[in-house]
Amino acid sequence: MSDTINLQDLLRRAFQSQIELGMNECVISPENLKNKTLAIQSEAQVVTPQQALGNSQETTAAFPSLEAHKDAICNCQLCPLGKTRNKFVYGVGNPNADILFIGEAPGADEDRLGEPFVGRAGQLLDKILAAIQMSRQTVYIANILKCRPPQNRDPQPDEMELCFPYLYEQVHLIKPKLICTLGRIASQALLKTTTPLGKLRNNWQFFEDIPVIVTYHPAALLRFPSYKRDTWEDMKKLKAKYESMI
Ligand code: SF4
Repeated sequence: MSDTINLQDLLRRAFQSQIELGMNECVISPENLKNKTLAIQSEAQVVTPQQALGNSQETTAAFPSLEAHKDAICNCQLCPLGKTRNKFVYGVGNPNADILFIGEAPGADEDRLGEPFVGRAGQLLDKILAAIQMSRQTVYIANILKCRPPQNRDPQPDEMELCFPYLYEQVHLIKPKLICTLGRIASQALLKTTTPLGKLRNNWQFFEDIPVIVTYHPAALLRFPSYKRDTWEDMKKLKAKYESMI
């Protein structure tokens, strides 16, 4: 008997058990993960739901596809936002995208439609993508949080910590060549830093071994149009780096 649990194996088993039970809706929750964990603790030490959902140092995906991952987590109630959301907002785009854009959290329009960046900020993001000959069909777009914080308040640290393993799994499934974080909150959360956005923008950052470019959130560009020039410089850097990699 192994005295250390293989977290990926635990997730696969949890997911497999959903399939075996013929569950058509997403069912991973703190309760059922805990029960699943208890059921197998005879052969592995107990882990928390949070650990089981991806806090391991594994660098490969635990789920076979984005779709399977989404199906498994879309009824998540790990944090209080699960109760107040309208729609779970997983992500959109090419599942094999070379570039992954990461924002902060769904807003009112996203919460209503279940897709990230569909409001005014999203329309601006579409224009930014078009300017570098890309689109939401060729890249992938996700958020740190999958559910909308009420009144569009900032995500709380504990909410981001609970939700982060989902993004982590998305990164490992998509395997992007480059990541672009949109805004301070997404950038600091992904990079686990408190360094101001202005400083992060100065250099390429890294998430694991993936180069990360930090830029402004499109919503900030709507409020402060003077940021558009810097954002355009960031996008040119992103495009040049990508072209040097393909
Ligand atoms: S924000 Fe993330 S952790 Fe919180 S309920 Fe939604 S999916 Fe779960």
